[in-house]
Amino acid sequence: MIHMRAKICPYFDNHQSACTLMIDDLASVAVVPAGEKISAKYDWGYLMDGPDSLYYFLEEQLLKAHPEIRGTVFLPLSSYKQLHSNEKYRVFTRTLDVEFMAFLNRIRSRFDFAFHGTWHSKAEYNGVHSTPANIELEFTVVKPPDIERIRREIDAFSSCSGISFSGGKYPGYKNNEFAETLIEELGFLWWMSDASMINKISKFSRHRYIGKGNIILDLPTTISGSLFAIIQERKLKQALRYLKKAIKGTSPTSLLDELVQKQFPITVQEHFQNQGPSGKRQKPNVFDDIQSLKMLFDHFRKFDLWYCTCSELAAYLENADHAVIHARNDGEFELTYTGRYSDCSLSLLLSTEKIIRPDNRKLYTGRPVHEGYVFNGLGRGIYSYNIEQS
Ligand SMILES: [Zn+2]
Repeated sequence: MIHMRAKICPYFDNHQSACTLMIDDLASVAVVPAGEKISAKYDWGYLMDGPDSLYYFLEEQLLKAHPEIRGTVFLPLSSYKQLHSNEKYRVFTRTLDVEFMAFLNRIRSRFDFAFHGTWHSKAEYNGVHSTPANIELEFTVVKPPDIERIRREIDAFSSCSGISFSGGKYPGYKNNEFAETLIEELGFLWWMSDASMINKISKFSRHRYIGKGNIILDLPTTISGSLFAIIQERKLKQALRYLKKAIKGTSPTSLLDELVQKQFPITVQEHFQNQGPSGKRQKPNVFDDIQSLKMLFDHFRKFDLWYCTCSELAAYLENADHAVIHARNDGEFELTYTGRYSDCSLSLLLSTEKIIRPDNRKLYTGRPVHEGYVFNGLGRGIYSYNIEQS
Protein backbone atom coordinates (compact mmCIF):
# COMPACT_ATOMS: atom_id res chain seq x y z
CA MET A 1 0.00 0.00 0.00
CA ILE A 2 1.23 3.50 -0.83
CA HIS A 3 1.97 5.57 2.21
CA MET A 4 -0.02 8.70 1.72
CA ARG A 5 0.65 12.18 3.04
CA ALA A 6 -2.26 14.59 2.90
CA LYS A 7 -2.96 18.02 4.32
CA ILE A 8 -5.36 20.88 3.77
CA CYS A 9 -3.52 23.90 2.34
CA PRO A 10 -3.71 27.07 4.47
CA TYR A 11 -4.87 29.04 1.41
CA PHE A 12 -6.25 28.24 -2.04
CA ASP A 13 -3.74 26.57 -4.39
CA ASN A 14 -1.24 26.28 -1.52
CA HIS A 15 -0.36 29.99 -1.67
CA GLN A 16 1.61 31.24 1.29
CA SER A 17 -0.91 33.94 2.09
CA ALA A 18 -3.85 35.85 0.63
CA CYS A 19 -4.22 39.46 -0.45
CA THR A 20 -7.38 41.50 -0.88
CA LEU A 21 -7.99 45.21 -1.51
CA MET A 22 -10.89 46.55 0.54
CA ILE A 23 -12.64 49.68 -0.66
CA ASP A 24 -15.00 51.09 1.96
CA ASP A 25 -17.71 53.68 1.41
CA LEU A 26 -18.05 53.64 -2.33
CA ALA A 27 -21.23 55.74 -2.59
CA SER A 28 -23.12 57.70 -5.21
CA VAL A 29 -21.68 60.92 -3.79
CA ALA A 30 -19.13 63.64 -4.59
CA VAL A 31 -18.25 66.43 -2.14
CA VAL A 32 -16.67 69.34 -4.01
CA PRO A 33 -15.21 72.50 -2.42
CA ALA A 34 -16.69 75.73 -3.81
CA GLY A 35 -14.76 76.92 -6.84
CA GLU A 36 -13.41 73.43 -7.59
CA LYS A 37 -14.43 71.15 -10.42
CA ILE A 38 -15.96 67.78 -9.73
CA SER A 39 -13.13 65.27 -10.27
CA ALA A 40 -11.50 62.08 -8.97
CA LYS A 41 -10.10 63.98 -5.97
CA TYR A 42 -13.61 64.64 -4.62
CA ASP A 43 -15.49 61.66 -6.07
CA TRP A 44 -16.76 58.84 -3.85
CA GLY A 45 -18.41 56.95 -6.72
CA TYR A 46 -20.86 59.59 -8.03
CA LEU A 47 -19.02 59.73 -11.39
CA MET A 48 -19.04 55.90 -11.54
CA ASP A 49 -16.31 54.83 -14.02
CA GLY A 50 -16.52 57.94 -16.23
CA PRO A 51 -13.36 59.76 -17.44
CA ASP A 52 -13.06 62.08 -14.36
CA SER A 53 -14.14 59.46 -11.83
CA LEU A 54 -12.20 58.06 -8.91
CA TYR A 55 -12.73 54.52 -10.21
CA TYR A 56 -11.20 55.45 -13.59
CA PHE A 57 -8.28 57.07 -11.73
CA LEU A 58 -7.77 53.85 -9.73
CA GLU A 59 -7.98 51.77 -12.89
CA GLU A 60 -5.47 53.93 -14.78
CA GLN A 61 -3.06 54.51 -11.90
CA LEU A 62 -3.04 51.09 -10.23
CA LEU A 63 -5.24 48.32 -11.62
CA LYS A 64 -3.91 48.41 -15.18
CA ALA A 65 -0.36 47.79 -13.97
CA HIS A 66 -1.60 45.21 -11.46
CA PRO A 67 -4.10 42.96 -13.20
CA GLU A 68 -3.72 40.49 -10.31
CA ILE A 69 -5.49 42.78 -7.80
CA ARG A 70 -8.88 41.63 -6.55
CA GLY A 71 -10.94 42.77 -3.64
CA THR A 72 -14.19 43.76 -2.02
CA VAL A 73 -16.20 46.98 -2.06
CA PHE A 74 -18.04 47.70 1.20
CA LEU A 75 -21.27 49.49 0.31
CA PRO A 76 -23.33 51.72 2.59
CA LEU A 77 -26.75 51.44 0.95
CA SER A 78 -28.32 54.84 1.70
CA SER A 79 -25.53 57.00 3.12
CA TYR A 80 -25.88 59.34 0.15
CA LYS A 81 -29.07 60.67 1.76
CA GLN A 82 -27.10 61.96 4.78
CA LEU A 83 -24.97 64.58 3.07
CA HIS A 84 -25.97 68.14 2.26
CA SER A 85 -24.33 71.08 0.53
CA ASN A 86 -23.16 74.05 2.59
CA GLU A 87 -21.68 77.41 1.66
CA LYS A 88 -18.22 75.92 1.20
CA TYR A 89 -19.10 72.55 -0.36
CA ARG A 90 -21.40 71.32 -3.05
CA VAL A 91 -22.63 67.78 -2.48
CA PHE A 92 -23.62 65.75 -5.53
CA THR A 93 -25.67 62.60 -4.98
CA ARG A 94 -27.70 60.23 -7.09
CA THR A 95 -30.04 57.41 -6.15
CA LEU A 96 -28.88 53.84 -6.74
CA ASP A 97 -30.52 53.86 -10.16
CA VAL A 98 -30.17 51.50 -13.11
CA GLU A 99 -27.06 53.30 -14.35
CA PHE A 100 -25.34 53.08 -10.99
CA MET A 101 -26.20 49.38 -10.65
CA ALA A 102 -24.79 48.80 -14.15
CA PHE A 103 -21.55 50.46 -13.01
CA LEU A 104 -21.33 48.13 -9.98
CA ASN A 105 -21.85 45.17 -12.27
CA ARG A 106 -19.10 46.37 -14.63
CA ILE A 107 -16.47 46.18 -11.87
CA ARG A 108 -17.52 42.71 -10.68
CA SER A 109 -14.68 40.89 -12.41
CA ARG A 110 -12.30 42.51 -9.90
CA PHE A 111 -14.45 43.28 -6.88
CA ASP A 112 -17.31 41.67 -5.12
CA PHE A 113 -19.57 43.54 -2.71
CA ALA A 114 -20.17 43.48 1.01
CA PHE A 115 -22.67 45.21 3.29
CA HIS A 116 -21.48 48.33 5.09
CA GLY A 117 -24.61 49.60 6.78
CA THR A 118 -27.62 51.45 5.46
CA TRP A 119 -27.26 55.11 6.55
CA HIS A 120 -23.69 54.37 7.83
CA SER A 121 -23.11 57.54 9.92
CA LYS A 122 -24.62 60.88 10.83
CA ALA A 123 -22.53 63.91 11.64
CA GLU A 124 -23.61 67.11 13.34
CA TYR A 125 -21.73 70.29 12.61
CA ASN A 126 -21.87 73.47 14.67
CA GLY A 127 -20.59 75.48 11.75
CA VAL A 128 -19.05 75.06 8.36
CA HIS A 129 -15.57 73.49 8.51
CA SER A 130 -15.94 72.69 12.16
CA THR A 131 -14.96 69.29 13.44
CA PRO A 132 -18.23 67.39 13.74
CA ALA A 133 -19.68 67.94 17.21
CA ASN A 134 -21.10 64.48 17.18
CA ILE A 135 -20.73 61.52 14.83
CA GLU A 136 -23.20 58.71 15.22
CA LEU A 137 -22.21 55.38 13.63
CA GLU A 138 -25.05 53.10 12.59
CA PHE A 139 -24.12 49.92 14.44
CA THR A 140 -23.44 51.78 17.71
CA VAL A 141 -27.14 52.72 17.88
CA VAL A 142 -28.88 49.69 16.31
CA LYS A 143 -31.71 48.07 18.26
CA PRO A 144 -33.21 44.60 17.63
CA PRO A 145 -36.30 45.99 15.78
CA ASP A 146 -33.97 47.60 13.17
CA ILE A 147 -33.42 44.17 11.64
CA GLU A 148 -36.58 44.37 9.51
CA ARG A 149 -35.70 47.77 8.02
CA ILE A 150 -32.12 46.64 7.29
CA ARG A 151 -33.32 43.39 5.75
CA ARG A 152 -35.76 45.32 3.52
CA GLU A 153 -33.02 47.68 2.31
CA ILE A 154 -30.67 44.79 1.55
CA ASP A 155 -33.41 42.85 -0.29
CA ALA A 156 -34.41 45.90 -2.35
CA PHE A 157 -30.78 46.51 -3.32
CA SER A 158 -30.20 42.86 -4.22
CA SER A 159 -33.28 42.58 -6.38
CA CYS A 160 -32.36 45.74 -8.35
CA SER A 161 -28.66 44.98 -8.74
CA GLY A 162 -28.49 41.19 -8.78
CA ILE A 163 -25.78 41.55 -6.13
CA SER A 164 -26.09 39.62 -2.89
CA PHE A 165 -23.95 40.00 0.23
CA SER A 166 -22.34 37.15 2.16
CA GLY A 167 -20.43 39.45 4.54
CA GLY A 168 -19.93 42.98 5.74
CA LYS A 169 -18.26 45.48 8.02
CA TYR A 170 -19.47 47.81 10.79
CA PRO A 171 -19.22 51.47 9.75
CA GLY A 172 -16.16 52.82 11.56
CA TYR A 173 -15.57 49.29 12.96
CA LYS A 174 -17.81 50.31 15.89
CA ASN A 175 -20.73 48.41 17.36
CA ASN A 176 -22.99 48.07 20.41
CA GLU A 177 -24.27 45.06 22.36
CA PHE A 178 -27.08 44.30 19.85
CA ALA A 179 -24.99 44.44 16.68
CA GLU A 180 -23.52 40.94 16.68
CA THR A 181 -26.86 39.21 17.19
CA LEU A 182 -28.33 41.38 14.47
CA ILE A 183 -25.76 40.43 11.82
CA GLU A 184 -26.05 36.79 12.88
CA GLU A 185 -29.81 36.90 12.42
CA LEU A 186 -29.35 38.59 9.03
CA GLY A 187 -27.48 35.42 8.07
CA PHE A 188 -24.04 36.85 7.30
CA LEU A 189 -21.33 34.22 6.85
CA TRP A 190 -18.41 36.56 7.49
CA TRP A 191 -17.76 39.99 8.93
CA MET A 192 -15.05 42.52 9.78
CA SER A 193 -15.63 43.78 13.30
CA ASP A 194 -12.30 45.21 14.32
CA ALA A 195 -9.27 47.04 12.90
CA SER A 196 -7.14 47.20 16.05
CA MET A 197 -4.58 44.87 14.42
CA ILE A 198 -3.93 47.24 11.50
CA ASN A 199 -0.27 47.86 10.55
CA LYS A 200 1.14 45.53 13.19
CA ILE A 201 1.59 41.88 14.04
CA SER A 202 -0.79 40.80 16.78
CA LYS A 203 -2.62 37.73 17.98
CA PHE A 204 -5.65 39.22 16.22
CA SER A 205 -3.92 39.21 12.81
CA ARG A 206 -5.56 35.83 12.22
CA HIS A 207 -9.30 35.31 11.64
CA ARG A 208 -11.63 34.29 14.46
CA TYR A 209 -15.33 33.58 14.95
CA ILE A 210 -17.90 35.91 16.48
CA GLY A 211 -21.62 35.91 17.25
CA LYS A 212 -23.80 33.98 19.69
CA GLY A 213 -23.10 30.67 18.02
CA ASN A 214 -19.50 31.59 17.16
CA ILE A 215 -20.30 30.93 13.51
CA ILE A 216 -19.55 34.26 11.79
CA LEU A 217 -16.00 34.25 10.46
CA ASP A 218 -14.40 37.56 11.43
CA LEU A 219 -11.58 38.68 9.13
CA PRO A 220 -8.80 40.91 10.43
CA THR A 221 -7.89 44.25 8.82
CA THR A 222 -4.15 43.98 8.63
CA ILE A 223 -2.70 46.77 6.45
CA SER A 224 -3.64 50.36 5.66
CA GLY A 225 -3.35 51.40 2.01
CA SER A 226 -1.54 54.47 3.31
CA LEU A 227 1.25 52.35 4.88
CA PHE A 228 3.92 53.90 2.67
CA ALA A 229 2.29 57.36 2.60
CA ILE A 230 2.71 57.45 6.38
CA ILE A 231 6.50 57.38 5.91
CA GLN A 232 6.45 60.15 3.34
CA GLU A 233 4.34 62.42 5.56
CA ARG A 234 6.13 61.83 8.84
CA LYS A 235 7.26 64.86 10.82
CA LEU A 236 10.70 64.85 12.42
CA LYS A 237 9.60 63.56 15.83
CA GLN A 238 7.50 60.82 14.26
CA ALA A 239 10.35 59.99 11.89
CA LEU A 240 12.69 59.43 14.83
CA ARG A 241 10.14 57.22 16.55
CA TYR A 242 9.64 55.37 13.29
CA LEU A 243 13.39 54.86 12.82
CA LYS A 244 13.67 53.41 16.32
CA LYS A 245 10.92 50.96 15.45
CA ALA A 246 12.50 50.19 12.09
CA ILE A 247 15.70 49.19 13.86
CA LYS A 248 13.68 46.71 15.90
CA GLY A 249 12.44 45.25 12.64
CA THR A 250 8.98 46.76 12.27
CA SER A 251 9.49 48.92 9.20
CA PRO A 252 6.62 48.72 6.67
CA THR A 253 8.46 46.30 4.42
CA SER A 254 9.52 44.02 7.27
CA LEU A 255 5.97 44.16 8.63
CA LEU A 256 4.67 42.92 5.27
CA ASP A 257 7.36 40.24 5.15
CA GLU A 258 6.44 39.04 8.63
CA LEU A 259 2.70 39.00 7.90
CA VAL A 260 3.27 36.74 4.90
CA GLN A 261 5.85 34.59 6.65
CA LYS A 262 3.37 34.00 9.51
CA GLN A 263 0.66 33.26 6.91
CA PHE A 264 -1.63 36.06 8.12
CA PRO A 265 -3.85 37.43 5.35
CA ILE A 266 -3.04 40.83 3.83
CA THR A 267 -6.29 42.76 3.87
CA VAL A 268 -5.59 46.28 2.58
CA GLN A 269 -7.87 48.98 4.02
CA GLU A 270 -8.89 51.80 1.70
CA HIS A 271 -11.78 54.23 1.17
CA PHE A 272 -13.48 55.82 -1.77
CA GLN A 273 -14.97 58.48 0.50
CA ASN A 274 -12.30 61.19 0.50
CA GLN A 275 -13.43 64.78 0.95
CA GLY A 276 -16.00 65.39 3.67
CA PRO A 277 -18.12 68.56 4.04
CA SER A 278 -16.32 69.10 7.35
CA GLY A 279 -13.34 70.26 5.28
CA LYS A 280 -11.31 67.23 6.33
CA ARG A 281 -9.86 64.59 4.00
CA GLN A 282 -10.82 61.03 4.96
CA LYS A 283 -7.77 58.88 5.71
CA PRO A 284 -6.83 56.52 4.20
CA ASN A 285 -8.33 57.21 0.76
CA VAL A 286 -7.52 55.84 -2.68
CA PHE A 287 -6.84 59.22 -4.29
CA ASP A 288 -4.33 60.51 -1.72
CA ASP A 289 -2.71 57.08 -1.21
CA ILE A 290 -2.19 56.12 -4.82
CA GLN A 291 1.62 56.19 -4.60
CA SER A 292 1.57 54.14 -1.41
CA LEU A 293 -0.78 51.61 -3.02
CA LYS A 294 1.58 51.28 -5.98
CA MET A 295 4.49 50.66 -3.62
CA LEU A 296 2.47 48.09 -1.65
CA PHE A 297 1.36 46.08 -4.66
CA ASP A 298 4.83 46.29 -6.23
CA HIS A 299 6.28 44.89 -3.00
CA PHE A 300 3.69 42.09 -2.88
CA ARG A 301 5.05 40.72 -6.17
CA LYS A 302 7.92 39.08 -4.32
CA PHE A 303 5.47 36.96 -2.32
CA ASP A 304 3.43 33.93 -3.29
CA LEU A 305 -0.05 35.43 -2.72
CA TRP A 306 -3.57 34.40 -3.51
CA TYR A 307 -5.30 37.55 -4.86
CA CYS A 308 -8.93 37.18 -3.90
CA THR A 309 -12.08 38.89 -2.64
CA CYS A 310 -12.97 38.96 1.06
CA SER A 311 -15.85 36.55 0.40
CA GLU A 312 -13.53 34.04 -1.27
CA LEU A 313 -10.99 34.38 1.52
CA ALA A 314 -13.61 33.97 4.26
CA ALA A 315 -15.17 30.95 2.53
CA TYR A 316 -11.82 29.21 2.12
CA LEU A 317 -10.80 29.79 5.76
CA GLU A 318 -14.19 28.63 7.05
CA ASN A 319 -14.09 25.53 4.85
CA ALA A 320 -10.55 24.67 5.99
CA ASP A 321 -11.50 25.10 9.67
CA HIS A 322 -14.44 22.71 9.34
CA ALA A 323 -12.93 19.97 7.17
CA VAL A 324 -10.99 16.87 8.18
CA ILE A 325 -9.07 14.30 6.13
CA HIS A 326 -9.72 10.76 7.38
CA ALA A 327 -7.37 8.04 6.18
CA ARG A 328 -9.13 4.81 5.14
CA ASN A 329 -7.54 1.38 4.89
CA ASP A 330 -8.23 0.59 1.29
CA GLY A 331 -6.01 3.23 -0.36
CA GLU A 332 -8.59 5.91 0.14
CA PHE A 333 -9.21 8.95 2.22
CA GLU A 334 -12.39 10.78 3.08
CA LEU A 335 -12.77 14.54 3.21
CA THR A 336 -15.52 15.51 5.64
CA TYR A 337 -16.93 19.02 6.12
CA THR A 338 -19.25 20.34 8.82
CA GLY A 339 -19.32 24.11 8.22
CA ARG A 340 -22.05 26.54 7.09
CA TYR A 341 -21.56 26.36 3.31
CA SER A 342 -23.39 23.70 1.29
CA ASP A 343 -20.05 22.01 0.58
CA CYS A 344 -16.39 22.84 1.00
CA SER A 345 -14.04 23.74 -1.85
CA LEU A 346 -10.51 23.14 -0.64
CA SER A 347 -6.95 22.79 -1.84
CA LEU A 348 -5.16 19.65 -0.65
CA LEU A 349 -1.46 18.92 -0.70
CA LEU A 350 -0.94 15.20 -1.38
CA SER A 351 2.10 13.02 -1.98
CA THR A 352 0.52 11.41 -5.02
CA GLU A 353 -0.05 12.87 -8.47
CA LYS A 354 -3.48 11.45 -9.29
CA ILE A 355 -6.62 10.69 -7.32
CA ILE A 356 -10.05 9.46 -8.32
CA ARG A 357 -13.52 9.67 -6.81
CA PRO A 358 -14.80 6.07 -6.80
CA ASP A 359 -18.45 7.29 -6.74
CA ASN A 360 -18.37 9.26 -10.02
CA ARG A 361 -15.01 8.09 -11.51
CA LYS A 362 -13.83 11.73 -11.68
CA LEU A 363 -10.05 11.81 -12.02
CA TYR A 364 -7.95 14.64 -10.56
CA THR A 365 -4.34 15.46 -11.48
CA GLY A 366 -2.35 17.53 -9.03
CA ARG A 367 -0.06 20.45 -9.79
CA PRO A 368 3.50 19.46 -8.86
CA VAL A 369 5.11 21.59 -6.13
CA HIS A 370 8.21 21.11 -4.00
CA GLU A 371 6.46 19.05 -1.28
CA GLY A 372 4.08 17.04 -3.49
CA TYR A 373 1.01 17.79 -5.58
CA VAL A 374 -1.70 20.41 -5.09
CA PHE A 375 -5.34 19.63 -5.87
CA ASN A 376 -7.86 22.48 -5.97
CA GLY A 377 -11.61 22.64 -5.51
CA LEU A 378 -12.13 19.40 -3.59
CA GLY A 379 -15.51 18.97 -1.93
CA ARG A 380 -16.56 16.45 0.70
CA GLY A 381 -16.32 12.83 -0.38
CA ILE A 382 -14.17 9.73 -0.68
CA TYR A 383 -11.07 9.86 -2.86
CA SER A 384 -8.83 6.97 -3.89
CA TYR A 385 -5.19 7.08 -4.83
CA ASN A 386 -5.18 3.55 -6.23
CA ILE A 387 -6.10 4.65 -9.75
CA GLU A 388 -5.84 1.21 -11.38
CA GLN A 389 -7.78 -0.86 -8.84
CA SER A 390 -10.64 1.54 -8.17
ZN1 LIG B 1 -17.36 53.32 6.21
